[in-house]
Amino acid sequence: MDLELTGEEREIRDWVRTFVRREIMPMEPEVLARERRGERGLRPDELTSLQRKAKDAGFFGIQTPEAYGGMALGAVMTALIEMELGRSFVQFRFGGDADNILYVANDEQRATYLVPTINGERKSCFAITEPGAGSDARAIRTTARRDGDEWVIRGEKTFITGGDEADFVMVFAVTDREKGADGGVTCFLVDRERGWHSRPIDTMGEWGPASLVFDDVRVPHSSILGEEGNGFELAMRWIGKGRYLLPARALGACERLVEMGMDHARTRVTFSKPIAERQAIQWMIADSAVEIEALRWLVLSAAWQVDRGLDSRQAQSMAKLYGGVKANEIVDRVLQMHGGMGYTRELPIERWYRELRLLRIYEGTDEIQRRTIARNLLRGHASVRGHLG
Ligand SMILES: Cc1cc2nc3c(=O)[nH]c(=O)nc-3n(C[C@H](O)[C@H](O)[C@H](O)COP(=O)(O)OP(=O)(O)OC[C@H]3O[C@@H](n4cnc5c(N)ncnc54)[C@H](O)[C@@H]3O)c2cc1C
Repeated sequence: MDLELTGEEREIRDWVRTFVRREIMPMEPEVLARERRGERGLRPDELTSLQRKAKDAGFFGIQTPEAYGGMALGAVMTALIEMELGRSFVQFRFGGDADNILYVANDEQRATYLVPTINGERKSCFAITEPGAGSDARAIRTTARRDGDEWVIRGEKTFITGGDEADFVMVFAVTDREKGADGGVTCFLVDRERGWHSRPIDTMGEWGPASLVFDDVRVPHSSILGEEGNGFELAMRWIGKGRYLLPARALGACERLVEMGMDHARTRVTFSKPIAERQAIQWMIADSAVEIEALRWLVLSAAWQVDRGLDSRQAQSMAKLYGGVKANEIVDRVLQMHGGMGYTRELPIERWYRELRLLRIYEGTDEIQRRTIARNLLRGHASVRGHLG
């Protein structure tokens, strides 16, 4: 067993670490000030400019295949990169990325959707959740009815990330009611010009998702992504892709938060002593550090299994669950260590507090991860001994 990074992994990680420190963190005060005024923190032109700088250094399409100009990095490397990016709350991401399921597109769809998305010319969104179907995604009711060479889509989607900005949607609709999720759900690629409407949803985060309405939106048969009836499988593939990456990003935030907490504890004096000398504060630091370390290995173990082509679903669910729960506990502790200042909007802690809360909800809630983990164990698909057996 080798728990060391390779020279290349270290080099790439260090480059990202420096990029975050030199290019992203200096933007934090301005981003925070804008968000406080209700504006978008990182403007699109600033994101593009940062992405261009990164691209000039070779950082483009982290997991995108080389055939599309990407770096085709593995899961462990990507997780390490996300950990570094997570150290800032500025919503930066490298350019050159596209949804994993767009790669099943046919040649024409690749030219219309996949390639422009990778090049940053088009924006996608992924829409399965509905007002009546979230955790229970099999219960979706949006329908697509065949009419000659067209399909007519009718229904409502909700909580769609990027739904108000996207110019096309990967929307999941029931095409065979009897089969339902077992072969009766189909994914359609639908341009906004076809007539779907979006409305932003205000959330406790800094920028919200949107609800999408499809009021008899007509699309040609050629809009189907993949095959008719295999939509549910595609949806699960999309959701499954990033389960280890969300906690990786949260882990970076936790590291930074605990560092902030320690800086504060060393200098904040009460009753003639820095609070860092109090056991109550030391225990908060110690517990957080242990949990961060445990999370690091859950994330890396899940990513390692992805790279090895193993069935990583159990490990990914564990990383997502633990990351969501622990990141929320850690940000709460760090806020507590800062006392009244932690509760103010002068510091970004309350911002992280609100943002990290989402991790326990989207892409499978805590409860759904627990359900998956327990079912895998009870049915014998996974062992409490983990992947080492
Ligand atoms: C900011 C944000 C962005 C999102 N982005 C997207 C997106 O881009 N695309 C998309 O399609 N969706 C997106 N979602 C939707 C998200 O995936 C769902 O909100 C999530 O799956 C939970 O579904 P729900 O909100 O309907 O809650 P429900 O499914 O109604 O669950 C309510 C509560 O009941 C619990 N629960 C449900 N079933 C069980 C069970 N069997 N056992 C125990 N407890 C259970 C849940 O864990 C939860 O605590 C987003 C959501 C948010 C908030």
